[in-house]
Amino acid sequence: MKIVKTVEEVRAQVREWRAEGLSVGLVPTMGYLHEGHASLIKTSVRDNDRTVVSVFVNPMQFGPAEDLESYPRDIDRDAELVQLCGGDLIFNPEPEEMYHDGFSSFVDMTVLTQELCGLSRPVHFRGVCTVVTKLFNIVKPDKAYFGKKDAQQLAVIRHMVDDLNMDIAIVGCPIIREDDGLAKSSRNTYLNADERKAALVLSKSLALGAGLIRNGEKSCDRIIDKMKEYIDKEPLARIDYVKIVDCGTMQQIKELDRPALCAVAVFIGKTRLIDNFFTEDL
Ligand code: AMP
Repeated sequence: MKIVKTVEEVRAQVREWRAEGLSVGLVPTMGYLHEGHASLIKTSVRDNDRTVVSVFVNPMQFGPAEDLESYPRDIDRDAELVQLCGGDLIFNPEPEEMYHDGFSSFVDMTVLTQELCGLSRPVHFRGVCTVVTKLFNIVKPDKAYFGKKDAQQLAVIRHMVDDLNMDIAIVGCPIIREDDGLAKSSRNTYLNADERKAALVLSKSLALGAGLIRNGEKSCDRIIDKMKEYIDKEPLARIDYVKIVDCGTMQQIKELDRPALCAVAVFIGKTRLIDNFFTEDL
């Protein structure tokens, strides 16, 4: 397993693999890897001859008041995990390698990004689409792996690949959770002991919503109200959104008459966490 920092080194390695006729999978990450990332990497290792993991805290997808500076970083620990999972190459560029002086081209999306996280994080998806396009152009993978934890991101990437005819298969992977249900996230490291307990309101409110749906509730408002009521009881929690949207368009719906995504974003103290479920997975 190798770690490289330049675009040229990635290209040289991938060229060698291609000359041998090998297939290549890509797992884009921001590092501080956990079992959620590990499941993506293992799936790619199973599906492809070689797997590239990018570790890049992408400044472009953070808003001015967000946690770019404090985002946790530990490339040595990340390298151990990638090695254990069977990954072949880590691409860990500095921001200047990705965004040289005068960088001025962006990939943006006008649909799908006007709801959910796109509302509270207005520059986020432009940063995601731009960096993922760059990674696709650098690695030129056959397949790329994304977690359902970031459900809107997965929908946006699928849409971008379709709109722009990118010849890459996008694979969505299930959410990996702690034993008590909290979705694994690099940002969980920000939580103190009380916040860690309070953070369970995300998965528990989703379980409540899922239970109502299983019992036949079709009204999205009624489901959302019950979930909000539950989260509001937790003093350390502040709701950013609780929404039910159409899986394809990410637009809010009133009735559960089609495949939907139920998604929550909640501040626990200063830490913004997200979680969700797809009704199809119930
Ligand atoms: P991040 O490093 O947080 O940008 O995440 C990199 C990739 O890992 C994204 O595709 C995420 O959706 C995915 N991911 C993060 N956490 C989880 C999780 N708990 N389960 C599954 N996938 C995850």
